[in-house]
Amino acid sequence: MKRVKKMQYESPKSIDDAISLISNSPGNVRLLAGGTDLLVQMQSQVADPDLVIDIKNIKEMKEFKKEDGVYTVGAAVTGMEIIEHEEFGSDWPGVVDGVKLIGSIQIKGRASMGGNLCNASPAADSIPAMIASGASAVIAGPNGRREVLVEDFIKGPGKTSLKSNEILLSVKFPIKKPNSSGAYLRFTPRTEMDIAVVGVGINVTMSDSGICEEAKVSIGAVAEKALVVEDAATALVGNKITDEIIENFISKVRASARPINDKRGTVDFRIQVIGVIAKRALKMALERIR
Ligand SMILES: Cc1cc2nc3c(=O)[nH]c(=O)nc-3n(C[C@H](O)[C@H](O)[C@H](O)COP(=O)(O)OP(=O)(O)OC[C@H]3O[C@@H](n4cnc5c(N)ncnc54)[C@H](O)[C@@H]3O)c2cc1C
Repeated sequence: MKRVKKMQYESPKSIDDAISLISNSPGNVRLLAGGTDLLVQMQSQVADPDLVIDIKNIKEMKEFKKEDGVYTVGAAVTGMEIIEHEEFGSDWPGVVDGVKLIGSIQIKGRASMGGNLCNASPAADSIPAMIASGASAVIAGPNGRREVLVEDFIKGPGKTSLKSNEILLSVKFPIKKPNSSGAYLRFTPRTEMDIAVVGVGINVTMSDSGICEEAKVSIGAVAEKALVVEDAATALVGNKITDEIIENFISKVRASARPINDKRGTVDFRIQVIGVIAKRALKMALERIR
């Protein structure tokens, strides 16, 4: 029989109020954005908070703005709001690829990219694309604000670099370089509503003469957290993207994957498939630049 316990719910209007609630609560505190992870965890008794702080009524958490070329996406901005932002989609199509894959339309109407990041699942779909785009997490705490690259924000399955009295405020994207684009692709046995067996986020910048000037590659679902694959980026930079370069790129991606065997796929299968998905994601990003 389920234990019935008293749980407090608060919906502060400011970041300062949210932080003071967290700092002054002796019990287990959880933040609530869309709730598509948290409520499922509470229902299955994986999470059992004494205090739930709803962040959706904090104005800054819902801000989605571009200033001097830098996008700030508030932690509670929903997936559908991101998908429907045409300019953001044209600047960071890879991120939108990732967000589009989060559950159904109904889920995306609630779910936030911030929640996807803070839940820190190794298979989270928006994280490799955020990493590939060079995005940073903006964190607020009692001592002010700090920024950390998304790849450093995630520490492991369900673990982030947030201290117990800190909250994710927003995700910031750098100024998009000319002649650059990105993509995120995943493999799942079903086409929708499934968890990534492998995922690849990539961003590339090309010169007018077809040389790769910059690249960032991140792989998901093949380690305890999304990884940055520097060797794969190095395989591209300074080169025209020929078949030989692509083969080298694929081999570097495969060499960095360290997946586990589980019901969704074996180690060998995941290593094989991540190369295929990485090649497709690279071609998709290059096509988008053209
Ligand atoms: C049917 C279904 C299908 C799904 N499919 C996918 C999928 O295909 N791919 C995928 O990646 N995910 C999927 N998910 C998981 C989930 O929808 C996503 O992870 C979603 O982005 C979570 O966002 P949220 O706003 O609902 O987070 P919430 O559930 O509100 O929060 C998630 C976690 O982050 C914490 N948190 C939230 N906001 C903050 C903050 N600002 N600061 C600090 N901590 C915070 C919460 O306390 C909680 O621990 C699916 C979920 C369901 C129910």
